Amino acid sequence: MSASRVAVIGAGVAGLACAQRLRRAGRDVVVFDKGRRPGGRVSTRRSGGLQFDHGAQFFTARDPRFVEVVRSWVADGAAARWTGPFATLERGQRGEDPRPGAVRYVGAPGMSGVAAPLSAGLDVHSGATIERVLQEGDTFVATMRQPGAETPMRVGPFDEVIVALPPSQAVQLLREVGGAAYAEAARLSRALLPSLCAMVAFEEPLPGADGGMFVVGDEALGWAAHDGGKPGRSGAPTYVLHGTSAWSLSNFQTPPEVFAAEMVAAFARVLGREAADLPATIYVAGHRWGFALADGDPPPNKFVAAPSGISLCGDALGGGRVEGAFVSGIELADALLSG
Ligand SMILES: Cc1cc2nc3c(=O)[nH]c(=O)nc-3n(C[C@H](O)[C@H](O)[C@H](O)COP(=O)(O)OP(=O)(O)OC[C@H]3O[C@@H](n4cnc5c(N)ncnc54)[C@H](O)[C@@H]3O)c2cc1C
Repeated sequence: MSASRVAVIGAGVAGLACAQRLRRAGRDVVVFDKGRRPGGRVSTRRSGGLQFDHGAQFFTARDPRFVEVVRSWVADGAAARWTGPFATLERGQRGEDPRPGAVRYVGAPGMSGVAAPLSAGLDVHSGATIERVLQEGDTFVATMRQPGAETPMRVGPFDEVIVALPPSQAVQLLREVGGAAYAEAARLSRALLPSLCAMVAFEEPLPGADGGMFVVGDEALGWAAHDGGKPGRSGAPTYVLHGTSAWSLSNFQTPPEVFAAEMVAAFARVLGREAADLPATIYVAGHRWGFALADGDPPPNKFVAAPSGISLCGDALGGGRVEGAFVSGIELADALLSG
């Protein structure tokens, strides 16, 4: 692998948005991500002809810079407006949309669709887990492990490193180099709460369970969505269920097939039905998100910028969610370009 000036570690929305802005300004950028494809928590699981947005469910856009990008995604078919319907769901009662008038978008044909425009033209190395970042004189090197490799390989040297990971993961990489990015990542290491996810496909449609459902008053479930009913999807009776943060935390070590079954039972409960009355399932799977959603107030700075050093961005700094990740990434790029 040839040496590159800027390494971006993490190809989620924050890392890609930052890398893209630097590339467009003429910087030589290479992106590393441990996942099989870019997108991070904006992701779509595909299995046997079924698909599920098992991470981020939708995104909103308020910042004019994100609004403009989302418009271009919609124009190019990489995203679409999701009109739901949206409702609260409490013990069998559907209520109003808790944020009436909110404009919500999804990636197309799955959430991961937005990773394509974000990564266009970028040199992204997927399946590349960065284990350590080390300083060598004025430059940095990293150790990278690819799937099945017995030993990590060295990549670099880089003049700058951008770490676009959940803070607890950033801490692992930066332990030896330390510095401001490490200190901020350590400070924010509890900023992202976990979420358990169940993906379920029923044999038949499920009446009364359309669109996006903000579950209220259930210990286990916080959200349910008719995933197959999102725009551009097949219409299949496929659902994504997300656990509340507290329930996800206390059940995080439970085997996925067990917590997924419990979440399907909880779905019946919040729909006001007996589990036995739901249509038969043809697919049930669980996924653990260790770092899902930002908790609490965002920090005052949306990034840590260190020209010629190690910088940090991501949703935990940007105020959470897809939009916060995007804003954190582009603001970091702008700070580095002007620094
Ligand atoms: C269950 C769930 C529901 C959500 N719902 C919503 C929602 O409805 N609306 C909304 O706006 N947001 C939602 N979010 C949050 C949203 O997905 C995130 O805020 C946003 O995608 C974060 O982007 P990021 O780039 O900061 O981080 P990430 O997407 O986490 O990107 C980090 C990347 O780093 C990679 N990585 C990690 N460690 C290494 C390593 N050592 N080496 C190389 N690569 C590494 C990962 O593979 C990942 O691709 C949800 C998230 C989850 C999990």
